[in-house]
Amino acid sequence: MPWFKRADKGIQTPTEQKKETPDGLWYKCPNCKTVTSMAEHRKNLNTCVQCSHHDRIGSKEYFAILFDDNEFTELDENLTSGDPLSFVDSKPYPQRIASTQKSTGLKDAVRTAYGKVNSQNITIACMDFAFIGGSMGSVVGEKIARAIDHARKTRSPFLMISKSGGARMMEAGFSLMQMAKTSAKLALLSEEKLPYISLLTDPTTGGVTASYAMLGDFNIAEPGALIGFAGPRVIKETIGKDLPKGFQSAEFVLEHGFLDFIIDRKELKNRLSELLSMVLLPEDVTTASKTKKAAKAS
Ligand SMILES: [Zn+2]
Repeated sequence: MPWFKRADKGIQTPTEQKKETPDGLWYKCPNCKTVTSMAEHRKNLNTCVQCSHHDRIGSKEYFAILFDDNEFTELDENLTSGDPLSFVDSKPYPQRIASTQKSTGLKDAVRTAYGKVNSQNITIACMDFAFIGGSMGSVVGEKIARAIDHARKTRSPFLMISKSGGARMMEAGFSLMQMAKTSAKLALLSEEKLPYISLLTDPTTGGVTASYAMLGDFNIAEPGALIGFAGPRVIKETIGKDLPKGFQSAEFVLEHGFLDFIIDRKELKNRLSELLSMVLLPEDVTTASKTKKAAKAS
């Protein structure tokens, strides 16, 4: 007689009674399943220590990675969305905005700021996927347009970090107008010979890909990022063919000529500085780095 006998087949414990490790202590990579402490994972800029899988992060983390000593001045901090269409889905749009602002601590899906990256002045706009899927509505468009104006006024380069599900449904046509507005502002930036670098992160899709994200003097991406316009299912149904492996990954998009290069997050800051030092006009190089160079030369 065995001392243990399984009376029922399979695991019977209901999900809510299963024991989980507490959140925030350990990190398990969704790609290679390596487990590391959360502290180690954060130190590695939220990329896997084993396979370098890049986790999604928000504007707070990107600003901390890029700006010297995490010092920056935020632009148009309090711009929030109206409700031009009196839109209601499962709840009215103003209510959705208010509850998302409360849960994320963000005002909308983009934050814009200026500061220094390795002593070089720069204006950065960074999207937050946590805010209604990083959707582009009128506030996102307006803040990006104003950030570009700020770059023009201060003659600083402009970096856009995109992370978006596309245009914001609740603002319909008003969202689509942001594509034209931001593109027109980028044309002015280009006329004034100021560099625009576009960083596409996971995911960059829809109207964002179709406007400012693909208009950079350099279009760069994080490894493994999903980059596309329409979703794979829609494309598959339209063309009636199976899609190739790795379709819409940053690596696939690079191979097909839509990206200039892929950059590991851990190298982002220094590679960005190198790039800017190659393309900036001498008069737009910040005094601080000029002084440093002068000191080195003497
Ligand atoms: Zn991994």
